[in-house]
Amino acid sequence: MDSALIVKKAMDNYPLLREENYCTVECPVCKNDSKFFVICRHDSVGFPAEYVICKKCGNIFFSKRPARDGYDIYYNKVYDSLTQRGFQEYSGKEKEQVKAFLEGQIKRGYKIADYCKKHLFKGIKILDVGCGMGGTLKVFQNEYDAECYGIDPVYGQVKIAREVLEVDNIYCGMAEDIDSIVPSGMKFDLIVIRATLDHLYDPSLVLNLLRNYCHER
Ligand SMILES: [Zn+2]
Repeated sequence: MDSALIVKKAMDNYPLLREENYCTVECPVCKNDSKFFVICRHDSVGFPAEYVICKKCGNIFFSKRPARDGYDIYYNKVYDSLTQRGFQEYSGKEKEQVKAFLEGQIKRGYKIADYCKKHLFKGIKILDVGCGMGGTLKVFQNEYDAECYGIDPVYGQVKIAREVLEVDNIYCGMAEDIDSIVPSGMKFDLIVIRATLDHLYDPSLVLNLLRNYCHER
């Protein structure tokens, strides 16, 4: 099924994903609520969502997007239907695309590892918020024998991450719910949140929750 059809079908089935039921939010960094430069008006699948740069502070985020219930539907009922298969269940051109996507994540994982290399050590305990297919974690697992944990709302990607990393610590869920998903009291040496903050429902809440998972040292 092509994207345009998926978008149409989803909007027919789920009114919360129709633009008239969206909410417009202020910049989560500086609270500016009007001065934005619009970068694009659709997400990667084709749903309407206004992606902007805040003219006051430069933050990039979705200013107009579904309410929280719409987010849940988007990830659990719609986006997931595009990607719910495990890696082995793909074939042909689709498998190549998934492979390329994963390789892109691994490449970016090496960049992240290089960026923070002076803080890394063998056996580091790492949490990747919005881990996708686990590409970033794979790099840390391979290069640093890292103890890997990840969370992502898209079940299909979580499934592939579990296959790729062969670890049980990959959770499916929204980052805003992390305190009921990743065991409380757990502390990490490194928390990665890459290409995720911009499209979280509530980035301030997530950053506050993540603080509880950081080592104090
Ligand atoms: Zn701002």
